[in-house]
Formats: sequence, C-alpha cells, structure tokens
Amino acid sequence: MANTKYIFVTGGVTSSLGKGIIAASLAKLLQGQKFKVTIQKFDPYINVDPGTLNPYEHGECFVTDDGAETDLDLGHYERFLNVNTSQANNVTTGRVYQSVIEKERKGEFLGKTVQVVPHITNEIKERMSLLGDSGEYDIVITEIGGTVGDIESLPYIESVRQMIWDLGKENALVIHLTLIPFLAATGELKTKPTQHSVKTLMESGISADIIVCRTEHKLTEEIKDKLALFCNVQKEAVIQSIDVETIYDVPLKMSEEGLNRVVLDKLNLKAKQELNLNNWNSFLKKFKNPKHNIKIGLVGKYVELQDSYKSILESLIHAGAENETEIDVISIHSEHLDKSNVEELLNCLNGLIVAPGFGERGIEGKITAITYARENKIPFFGICLGMQMAVIEYARNKVGLVEANSTEMVPNCKVPVIDLMESQKKIIKKGGTMRLGSWDCDLNENTISANAYAVNSISERHRHRYEFNNGYFEKVFDQDFIVAGTNPETGLVEIIEYKNHPWFVGVQFHPEYKSTVSTPHPLFKAFVKASLANK
Ligand code: GLN
Repeated sequence: MANTKYIFVTGGVTSSLGKGIIAASLAKLLQGQKFKVTIQKFDPYINVDPGTLNPYEHGECFVTDDGAETDLDLGHYERFLNVNTSQANNVTTGRVYQSVIEKERKGEFLGKTVQVVPHITNEIKERMSLLGDSGEYDIVITEIGGTVGDIESLPYIESVRQMIWDLGKENALVIHLTLIPFLAATGELKTKPTQHSVKTLMESGISADIIVCRTEHKLTEEIKDKLALFCNVQKEAVIQSIDVETIYDVPLKMSEEGLNRVVLDKLNLKAKQELNLNNWNSFLKKFKNPKHNIKIGLVGKYVELQDSYKSILESLIHAGAENETEIDVISIHSEHLDKSNVEELLNCLNGLIVAPGFGERGIEGKITAITYARENKIPFFGICLGMQMAVIEYARNKVGLVEANSTEMVPNCKVPVIDLMESQKKIIKKGGTMRLGSWDCDLNENTISANAYAVNSISERHRHRYEFNNGYFEKVFDQDFIVAGTNPETGLVEIIEYKNHPWFVGVQFHPEYKSTVSTPHPLFKAFVKASLANK
C-alpha cells in the first residue's frame, strides 16, 4: 500500500460536471509522464451494478473484458488510457452492502452489531485499496460518484477521510470538482456555491487539496485569489476547467493549467519523463482538420439522451479521425421511423448504424431502416440487437419467412430465427446473467470482417441473452447472406454479412467497447471508410 499514491475526486454544486473526464484527463497526463495509473469509480446507488438500469438513468452500461457491467465513465478511462478495466474498477453501494450482508450471514461478525461505521466503511476501504494493493500501479485515481452532501455519499466520504488518515497526507490527495456559475444579468462569475461545497466537504473532515472549477468564462486572477482564500487551498491549486469543444481537449487544458504539476508536487513525486502526448496530439490534429465529411444515421430508441450510445459515438470519433473524416451523426428514433418516412429520413445518409437495445419498442422501425439500407446499398453496421434485426429483415424479405422474429419480442413466435440461448432458458434472475464479457470469434476468410481485422481470430465483448437460432442456419444463410464469424466453442453466429452490397455487417458483440483513441476499432474504421466511399 505504501508505494501507491491515491487521488480522490469528489464533486460539488451539481452532478454532471464531468468528474470522469477530469479523472481520465489527469490519468492521461500522468501516464504521459510514465506513471502507471488506473481509475476506479464508486457509485452511491443501491443497484449492485448498472446492468439493470435503463440508459435514461445513467447513460449506457459499459462492459469490461471480464464481463462486468459498469458505469460509462469506465469507457472514458479505457478510451483515454488504452488500458483495460475490470469489475474491481467499479463498485456500487449495492455491491458493498451485498458483500457485508453475505459476511454477516456467514457469521464473520459473530456477536457484533453490524453498522455503517465501521463495517460498511471498512468494506469500501478494502475495495478502494484493492487495485493499489496489487502493486501494479504507481497511482490510483478514485472517483466518487454523486455530489458531496448527498445522504448516500456519506459512507464514501468517510471512507476517503479514513484512507487519507491511514495513508498519510503525502500519499493521498483530494481534488474537488465544482461549478462556477455565470450570472448573465450582472455579468459575474460566482464563487459562493464552490465555497459552500468545499465547506460541506470539510464538515466531513476532508479538506480539498485542489479545486477544479468548471466554468463557461475565464477565471480572473481576482476570482482565483478569492477561491484560494475562502476554500483554503493554494492559488496554484485552483484549476480552471473552461468549456471546450471536445472532451479530447481536456487533458491539454489541464496540462496548461498545471493540474498534473500540482498533483505531483503534492504527492512528492517526480515526473519519470517529460510529458509525452504525441499520439494524443496526432489524433487531435486529424480529428480537428478533417478532409472529408459524411453523415451517419444512428437508429435507436434512446436517442434523446446522448449518453445512451456513448461508446458508439466515441468509436465513430476515433474512426473518423483515422479516416480524416468529420462525421455528422444523425440520430433517428426507431419509433418514429416507418415505411412512409424512411426515404425522407435515410436518403441523405452515407452510412447507417442500427444500435443495440432491449425489448420490443421501436424494432419494426429498425427493420424498416435495414431494408432501406440493404436495398439502397447504404453501408450498414448492425450492433447486437441491430445484427439480430438484420437477420430478421433478411429472413422476412428475402427468404420469405414472413413470420420471422425474435422470441424476445414475440415469445411464442412461429419462426424464431433469434432465440434465447439454451444456457439462458432456465435463468430467472435478471442481474449479471446475460452472455457477458469477452468471447472468442473465428473469422471466415474473404469476408469484410476478416479483411478489416486482418487476423483470423478475435475476441470481443458481449452483453445479450438472445442469439441467432442455428436451427434456421440452412434456411436463412445463402451465397449472399453469410456467416463471417463464429464462436469456436459453441458454434454461435457472431458476425453476419450481406455480400451483394458495398458494406453490410451485423455483429452480435459490442465492438464499441474496445475502441480507444490510440487504437480505433477495425470495424468502425472500415465502416467509416466504406461510408466515405459511398458519398
Ligand atoms: N436484446 C437483445 C438480447 O438480449 C440484444 C441486446 C443488445 O443489443 N445488447 O439478445
């Protein structure tokens, strides 16, 4: 424990200030100075994981290689750092209580009253130290979800206080992220909410070492002086985080503001090398100076909330930069799409993605969109449910199985081309029981996918219960509609392609979880390239 340094990131004033991006940006800078860094997120809600949450609640559910269903901030961590996370990187109140209660039932606290302090806080502290204790990291950044002062955050804040006490001031620090609102009527930036929020933190025995201030306008020296004095921090530890055009600018902004320098100073660490962000900068250069422009449609049922498809949108940014192409993503609500407006909505597109999803709502809109893309030779990328719908579309419209469907939508459907996996049929519990995490897939030669990946065998992350029903293999697949990838152990169909078309690929897995700034995903790259060629 002694060699690992800990940085805790808390938030004040309001939620949604971007703690995850600040944490990921700081980690990027420290990584650029050769430190081994990881980030973990502690979420105060009672769900054991976000797998049972609707995307409208906290945005998409991110899936790790080890099959953990996690907060979307882990996606930012992986995309920024190009390092895998795991179940250990995301802990919720539900998981903490579940494990304390299990221990109580086993008799581990026999004779004692089990309480929030010390039992819940000890469990939180154990989990906060887990990654650091592995000895793999120089620095562990821990993001505490929610806002200080919330009832449910209290055990976490108390655990942070104790961690700092255990570790010693030189081995741990607290960054508090707040909002500096701008009052248009008087043209002033206001510091009071930040003062109150820092004070709330102090009431729990924690003094912020660094304050990162989200602001729409530049902080004057006067404001910085005031914040330093009233929040009890050094002036150089008041870091401005001004609104920027892309999240990928944040590491550079934080470096200009000296966030990493102040952090290393306070932790008594010397940079192992001068900041090297060469790869990051070359990505940004391509991203900001595109030579081409395309329109990609994203059909889904949660399109009102950008965060629902976060990883897909970010994967398009990575693949767009790689192709020096600006991508205009047109969100299309699957429930508002039908035969009467499909032409009007889709004919301007250079490529179409049909998104993952659950349940019946909007699926006929997705199928209509796929028919249009297939017939009009618009590059098509179907992800998870999008792949399943592509199978149904082909079965209905080309094979003539007009009643083809998924048993997810119509449980007793007559032609279940998509059906529950055998292993899923007896499962009743909803939490953590899907086909999750990394699974291998063998690619067939001379397919779009094999060419894109340029290898024969891949592994990709999954999150679903339903599959292509191999009982319909002979009926559905023909010389045009083919299987391009299969799971070697189970024979499950992982990738379908339609040959009579410039680019038509459906994947049962989620490629979007593996795209990072430094390694854009091969299928997204190939899809963007094909969409560009289709312009
Ligand atoms: N609802 C589908 C299934 O469970 C697809 C899931 C998804 O798109 N992630 O198989």
